[in-house]
Order: sequence, then C-alpha cells, then structure tokens
Amino acid sequence: MIIVMKAGASKHDRDEVLKRIKELGYKPHVIHGTTRDVIGAVGDERGKLVLQSIESMHGVESVVPILQPYKLASKEVKKEPSLIRLSDTVSIGGKEIIVMAGPCSVEGEAQIIETAQAVKEAGARVLRGGAFKPRTSPYSFQGLEEEGLKFLAKARAITGLPIVTEVINPETVELVAEYADILQIGARNAQNFALLKKVGQIRKPVLLKRGMSMTIQEFLMSAEYVMSEGNQNVILCERGIRTFETATRNTLDLSAIPVLKEKTHLPVIADPSHGTGNYHYVAAMAFAAVAAGADGLIIEVHPDPERASSDGPQSLKPKKFDTMMTKLRLIAGAVDRTI
Ligand code: PEP
Ligand code: MN
Repeated sequence: MIIVMKAGASKHDRDEVLKRIKELGYKPHVIHGTTRDVIGAVGDERGKLVLQSIESMHGVESVVPILQPYKLASKEVKKEPSLIRLSDTVSIGGKEIIVMAGPCSVEGEAQIIETAQAVKEAGARVLRGGAFKPRTSPYSFQGLEEEGLKFLAKARAITGLPIVTEVINPETVELVAEYADILQIGARNAQNFALLKKVGQIRKPVLLKRGMSMTIQEFLMSAEYVMSEGNQNVILCERGIRTFETATRNTLDLSAIPVLKEKTHLPVIADPSHGTGNYHYVAAMAFAAVAAGADGLIIEVHPDPERASSDGPQSLKPKKFDTMMTKLRLIAGAVDRTI
C-alpha cells in the first residue's frame, strides 16, 4: 500500500504513521517527493487491507494499493526518476548519460591503471573491472580477488573515477563494499536472493544485471529484493538475454529499455559488450541504447584484447572506445541528453 501524506503534514504526523505501519506488521519505506512524502508499506499481501485504517490518521491524504507485484521499484510509488549518487561529482538518472568502462577482469596494476586513464580521457565517468569473476567454467580465470580490488582502488586514487565491480556471493559483500563505489550483481546471480538481500543491507549503489532468461517483471522483482532491505539505490542493466540466435553471444533486448523506463523510477543502463559478445557490434548497439532512452552504458575496454584473461573478443581497444564516445555525444544531443 502507498500512504500519501498531505502536502503540509508534519514530521510528527509522519512518525505516527510509521509507528502504526510497524504495529500492523508491515515495513515502512519513506519516499521523499518534491511537495509531499509518500510511504510505501510492504509486507504480507494477504492482510494488507488493515493498512486502510491509516487513512483516518492526522496528516494522511489517502491510502492506495500498489497494483504491481514490485512495489518500491514501481512508478506507482515514485513518479519522478531516481537520481543515484555514485561519487561527489557523478550521479546517474539525470540528463547526463553515464558511461562506465574498463576491462572485463582486473588482470594487474598496470593494466587497470592504463585502462582507467584511457577511458577517463575518452569521457567515461565510472571505471569497471571484475576482481571476482563468475565464470561458466571452473577452469577459467576466476579473478584476482582482493588484490584486484586493491588495484581498482589505486586506479580510482589516480583518476578520481568511482569503481563498479562484481560481488558474487553473500560472504564477500562486506569485503567488496570496502573498495567498490557500486556493487555489481551479475546476470548469473540476478536471482540469488540471499545475495540480493545482503547488498540491500549495504549503503552503496547496486548495479543489477538482468538474468539471461529473466522476464522484465522478474528483473524488477530482483530489484525489489534489494530495495525491500532498505537500499533504494539500484541501477538496472540490460545485458542481453538468451534467444535462439547464435550470431551474437546474447540478444540485447533494446525494447526492455523503454519498457523499464515506463515501469520504474530506477535508472536503466545497457551493456552492449555482453549483449553482443563481439566488439564489431558494440558501438552500434551503444548508440541504439542511448537513442532508446538508456541513462548510461557499461562497456568493456582492454588495452590488448587479444591477450585478455576474459571477454577479449567483445572488448574495445581504447582508441575504438574514444571514437565511439565522440559519435555517442551526437546521439546523446539528438535525444536531449549530455555526455
Ligand atoms: C561482466 O560484467 O563481466 C559480467 C560477467 O557480466 P554478466 O553478469 O552480464 O555476464
Ligand atoms: Mn565480461
């Protein structure tokens, strides 16, 4: 249920409502609006009608049901887009398209620093790099783990770019959160509910990738898992889904972008690197994603893709990334965005 407070409701009115929601066995989430607050009361759907009694409390305008199964992620609760702060100078969800770039895996100090400097120079605002890698094969490179996190932190210290890096299990969430500015949940973990709950308890933005065979509704339900634990800072990432097509690694579902933008206030980004699996197609799909309304992109860039430990075939060399960024600025301008 959504409890809509009156425009002039006092803090005392709001606190009384929060208390009552808890007494009734529900979890309140305050969403601050420009003119008034709304409070999402989430919990067991079956008994939710008891919340209707809150309508008679002081300062309350109305109590209305949230129709979608995802509540806090829904536009029903918050109409205006969420702006998520990634660092002192970088936020996502506003007019600026935020490009995150870097290698699939952190392979060494020199590699990540060189890449960070190159992507920054080209206009990226966030550095990506996996230190814990969820690989399909147990025999593939699994990442440098904490050493990789340290190299990322060093690259951040040199370039000032905030870092996004993947966390693959609940046990390492605290460790990764010590270093990362944004916690990435990969496609293979998009319905790892224990992990989603754990990152929901951390106060760092979460970049949630769409699972390979997830519907849009399931994707939003995964975001809801994070948000229902108290972390509202979720960025959704369309990274391609499994279809019958084999010419590309995945099928980047561009239509998911406008659909998500209609259903949720959360920022939506696209990953054309995993979405296509081939560096030849990355720029075209990056342009298309921005034209379709994406708030950002995440792109794999490697100084020497032929020798990359993972995902070399889909990684752009810094020069190609720079060329892509130049053209991307034109596309962004055409849809009234900046880079
Ligand atoms: C990655 O970003 O390198 C990655 C493993 O992505 P995904 O989870 O989308 O496959
Ligand atoms: Mn990758």
